[in-house]
Amino acid sequence: MPFIHGRQSNMKHPPSCTKKQLIHMRSIPGAPPCPPFTAVVRCSFSVRAVGIKARRPPRTDQIRSGLSSAFMNGLILIEKVLIFFVTKSADERNPPDTMLVLGIESSCDETAAAVVENGRRILSDVIASQVAVHEPYGGVVPELASRKHVETILPVIDQALREAGITASGLDAVAVTRGPGLIGALLVGLSAAKAMAYALNKPLIAVNHLEGHMQAAFIEGEEMDRPCVCLVVSGGHTALYRVEPDGSSSLLGSTRDDAAGEAFDKVAKLLNLGYPGGAVIDALSAKGDPGAHAFPRAFMDSDSLEFSFSGIKTAVAHFVRRFGPPSSSEIYRIEDLVASFQEAIVDVLVSKTIKAANRCKLRDIAVVGGVAANRRLRQRLSEEAARLQLNIHLPSMRFCTDNAVMIAAAAYFNWKRSGFCPDLFELDALSRWF
Ligand code: ADP
Ligand code: MG
Repeated sequence: MPFIHGRQSNMKHPPSCTKKQLIHMRSIPGAPPCPPFTAVVRCSFSVRAVGIKARRPPRTDQIRSGLSSAFMNGLILIEKVLIFFVTKSADERNPPDTMLVLGIESSCDETAAAVVENGRRILSDVIASQVAVHEPYGGVVPELASRKHVETILPVIDQALREAGITASGLDAVAVTRGPGLIGALLVGLSAAKAMAYALNKPLIAVNHLEGHMQAAFIEGEEMDRPCVCLVVSGGHTALYRVEPDGSSSLLGSTRDDAAGEAFDKVAKLLNLGYPGGAVIDALSAKGDPGAHAFPRAFMDSDSLEFSFSGIKTAVAHFVRRFGPPSSSEIYRIEDLVASFQEAIVDVLVSKTIKAANRCKLRDIAVVGGVAANRRLRQRLSEEAARLQLNIHLPSMRFCTDNAVMIAAAAYFNWKRSGFCPDLFELDALSRWF
């Protein structure tokens, strides 16, 4: 592979070949075969040689400054080289009756791959969590996340194919999260997906991470043949959408500042409860009194479908400053404090979701994303839904947080709606999308 080893930086065209020739290379009888998958992916991962020393821990100033430019440049460079070699427009292919899709997810701190048939039948589901990497910092460190994705993505994809009992050539399409998320983290998944699509001559489907979460509520449940209101509530997002049966969606309202999961994580950090905070607070709250302390519930009485969670985080900080840290306080119980904090968040989420359903005159509600795993939220939503005779759709616990099954599922509906990615040359990761 002449273009793999160290010549990417100044190479506009591959040696002795024009771009046009390359684009038509696969359609010429007797043309050289496309590079084997391992070679292309090795190219993808020669990013280590291009820019980063992946195994050396970053200096503190590197962590603070976010992504190292060398790392970014390495990924972007590799991506450019790979898409330059894509030789056939994906949408020229005939769509198959059965779609076997490999989903790839790397938008934040989970590297995941899954094989799903027709958006529903799960053949494999592999997730490599980075919790141990980020735990010492009490939150996700973007640079560390990108490096870990680079290390993990190939073994994860390999395992997903093995568990599904297929080889890569048996896939009908490769799907990948394009955004929103951490740009360096997204680029790892996107580069790997493009490399696979090119090497295998398979179409690529770019997926919005939030549309993936929305599909999570229906993977194991009933097929949705009517519109619904969907609350996406995770570490990076809190927003309400109207979702159509074809998977398309429109925004009804979102948070003005912190996401609900972010508030859980920040309050857990403040109280020294560990990372990620949501699950810890959920467990501790079960032994506390949710009415013990009053915390603010932003925009509760207004008609707005927007959220705000930075005030509640500040209120907990004031509380701790006033009454002392939980370890030394004899004035309050930590269980009561976190249960009251959680109740305030749950109150807002439930109330705004019901408000959205009323406004849209819809009887189906889906709640998805990492915070949808919260037991109190699930209980309160189920109670309200029963009281108001609404249908509630909740993903099972394993599909609440980030996974690749939801990406492969969303890809299937995305493909049915708008086809494969028409132009891989133009496909970039998007840190913000929606
Ligand atoms: P993102 O897609 O934004 O990266 P995820 O969908 O992976 O986020 O969800 C992670 C978030 O979900 C974290 O903020 C975590 O604290 C929160 N979370 C996970 N489990 C629970 C729970 N049981 N209760 C509340 N929050 C939770
Ligand atoms: Mg997510």
